[in-house]
Amino acid sequence: MFSSQKWKTVDKGMARLPGAFKPIVGDDLKYYRKIQKVDYLPHGNKVQISWKNHYTDCEFQKAAYDHTFIAVPFTVVRKWKLPEFSPTLGHAISLLMYQSACKVALEFKSRFWEHLDRPIFGSCNTKTDIPGLGDICYPGFNLNSTGPAVVLGSYNKDDYGERWVSTPEDEHAQYVLEGLVQLHGEVAREEYTGRLKRLCWIGEESNAGGSWAFPSVGQHELYILAYFSTENNIIFIGEHTSYTHSWTSALESAVRGSVQLLLEFGLVDEAKEITRKWMGKWITV
Ligand SMILES: Cc1cc2nc3c(=O)[nH]c(=O)nc-3n(C[C@H](O)[C@H](O)[C@H](O)COP(=O)(O)OP(=O)(O)OC[C@H]3O[C@@H](n4cnc5c(N)ncnc54)[C@H](O)[C@@H]3O)c2cc1C
Repeated sequence: MFSSQKWKTVDKGMARLPGAFKPIVGDDLKYYRKIQKVDYLPHGNKVQISWKNHYTDCEFQKAAYDHTFIAVPFTVVRKWKLPEFSPTLGHAISLLMYQSACKVALEFKSRFWEHLDRPIFGSCNTKTDIPGLGDICYPGFNLNSTGPAVVLGSYNKDDYGERWVSTPEDEHAQYVLEGLVQLHGEVAREEYTGRLKRLCWIGEESNAGGSWAFPSVGQHELYILAYFSTENNIIFIGEHTSYTHSWTSALESAVRGSVQLLLEFGLVDEAKEITRKWMGKWITV
């Protein structure tokens, strides 16, 4: 994404990707339901999910389904009221470790970094020994263009991913600017437009403080098998339930979950077809 390779993205924002499913799936697709509770209903052999339209509501809204995929990070799920799971799966939901990330983006009047003695044309590889600055990323698209551009002046994934939250956003951004001045000289201060944006995932409700799963020693080996068993008609998917972690792992887990559901119904051939088509087995290396 930040390399100088060809820049590709979803025009007008990633939110258009899930939005594109709406015309195909129609009214079966419901957005903005903040699930807070999941029950297994043994009489009907169904899963009931519950949410509130507003957090001050006393009553839950409810819907029941034969099976449910839960693709929400465990940092969020562990706050829900849940049915009883096997001890291993229950532990995974409650205890799986996550890592937090924090980014600060600063806008500059021009791409001065592309005109230095040693120019930088897009990368995320610049590191310094300035404490808490982390990686610095320069845009890898619209190279050599004129007009304002944004630098990811600080990208922290370690302890600083959480620690910076206690510093006010403007003060944090100023610290990042001073770091860039130290690195590139006063040109950075002169070119800064004053426009900034900080995003620390620990403050993001939909992640509940985690950016991605980061199992502690032994957790992966202990928990991974539990994700492959369907309990209470619920199948957990998402990057945290995959062998590896990152967005491709989220996709992989969706394929695994689909196969798992088909096998629940004894649809072996259909499960094999999903694996053949979507697990990239047709790719030759
Ligand atoms: C800063 C950062 C940088 C990253 N960089 C990379 C990278 O360079 N390469 C890479 O491969 N991966 C990267 N990742 C990881 C990647 O984003 C994740 O692996 C991927 O998004 C996980 O997909 P997912 O579908 O499992 O979970 P998510 O994308 O987190 O989706 C979970 C969904 O659950 C929804 N949700 C949350 N709470 C509720 C609720 N109560 N009710 C209903 N829905 C709810 C959320 O709205 C969200 O849509 C990065 C992540 C972060 C935070």
